Amino acid sequence: MIATGGVGKAFKVTSNSWEYTADGQALAFDVGAELIDMEFVQFHPTGMVWPPGVMGLLVTEGVRGEGGILRNSKGERFMWKYLPEARRNEYADDEDEAARWVEAAVAAKQTPDRRPPELSTRDNVARAIYTEVREGRGTPHGGAFLDISYLPADRVKKKLPSMYHQFMELADVDITKQPMEVGPTMHYMMGGIRVDPDSGAATVPGLFAAGEAAAGLHGANRLGGNSLSDLVVFGKRAGERGRVRARDPGAHDRAVRDRGLRARNARAVRSLGRRGSVRGPSRATRLHGPLRRHLPREGGPRARAHGPRRARGAREAGTGRGHAHVQPRLAPRARPAQPDHRVAGDHAQRAAAPGEPRRALATRSPGHGSAFGAVNMRAVKSGAEMKVEPTPLPQMPEELKRLFEPAKEKEREKEKVG
Ligand SMILES: Cc1cc2nc3c(=O)[nH]c(=O)nc-3n(C[C@H](O)[C@H](O)[C@H](O)COP(=O)(O)OP(=O)(O)OC[C@H]3O[C@@H](n4cnc5c(N)ncnc54)[C@H](O)[C@@H]3O)c2cc1C
Repeated sequence: MIATGGVGKAFKVTSNSWEYTADGQALAFDVGAELIDMEFVQFHPTGMVWPPGVMGLLVTEGVRGEGGILRNSKGERFMWKYLPEARRNEYADDEDEAARWVEAAVAAKQTPDRRPPELSTRDNVARAIYTEVREGRGTPHGGAFLDISYLPADRVKKKLPSMYHQFMELADVDITKQPMEVGPTMHYMMGGIRVDPDSGAATVPGLFAAGEAAAGLHGANRLGGNSLSDLVVFGKRAGERGRVRARDPGAHDRAVRDRGLRARNARAVRSLGRRGSVRGPSRATRLHGPLRRHLPREGGPRARAHGPRRARGAREAGTGRGHAHVQPRLAPRARPAQPDHRVAGDHAQRAAAPGEPRRALATRSPGHGSAFGAVNMRAVKSGAEMKVEPTPLPQMPEELKRLFEPAKEKEREKEKVG
């Protein structure tokens, strides 16, 4: 049962904790399981950008919900520029309407006013900030200004106490008096181990996965808050089915033995009792540096086209036996290992590569839109190599389709009227 969380630490700037090293994804891949959609990486738009020690630390969406305004170094409130045309009418026309909406929302009152542009989707706001910075309108530390200081100080402290303390203690910034500096931070991995949604079973018999390590539930972009319900519902399913599977020792043992998992597990457990001679982390760290330097840009909010070439150095640096920080001896001994970040990074880079079908959460290649909507990108082990290829998206079961039909009908009616 794999429930080791996401891959955030493959990125230089991330909101994830140090444990998010993709160990589970790497183990699953190594024993032949499919990984899917590893290019679907969600960037939260607002992480701290300064000081370096806390770069990436999350700045809650609540700041924008309470009226936080994003501006570039020229003082422009730039988010209006980035609203998608199809949804523009869901957002306020001007600053006055946006301010009225905030006041109504804070007072939990109904209002005909529409929300501020800062409350656009995560991917859109992240891309907007990234673009502003790339085009030379970033803050001194390479982000955007997020300003809530125009509100009364008491209100800010009462509504956003943890943000007040976070900035005061970590950045020496008083957010009741001055703006914060924020920028995109890698936050959540929609891709991961392919599982059957009813059982949590991976594509290798006897192997199960749940949570952020698993994939397929959130499509290309998770809605904020949905991870915890994912864990509760699909974690339960996977746990129950895994338990039943474990009680069928014949089949289970065979599958596990065939894949060498039992030996690997025994080695890992033995290693916990030994001291010293941990060679892994230094090797893994050698890989970590080059890969992290490239992933934020190439796999970032604007996934770009030269992933594989840039990643090659990282791949070559990563052919040692090292594994990540938590359990270095989980890595296979007899041959070069696939350190976790390499597995995660390889797939993310190659799925967004030139000459191969290319897509990412935040950017689609022009002209490929609908074709990419019909496939998952899967990575499987092929000899010592990783093969990345499109595979047809599973069809929605009939009983679910029926649930969506009334909503679709309504949409069609609206379009006719509009
Ligand atoms: C700052 C932040 C705020 C978030 N806020 C929200 C929110 O408000 N709502 C929401 O729905 N989602 C939120 N998320 C996302 C959500 O928290 C995660 O997706 C979710 O916790 C993942 O749960 P998990 O059980 O899959 O993995 P985790 O909770 O990360 O657990 C994985 C565990 O596996 C362990 N592990 C990893 N590798 C190994 C190894 N090799 N050996 C042994 N143990 C290992 C780790 O130490 C960890 O204990 C947030 C994420 C972040 C980073």
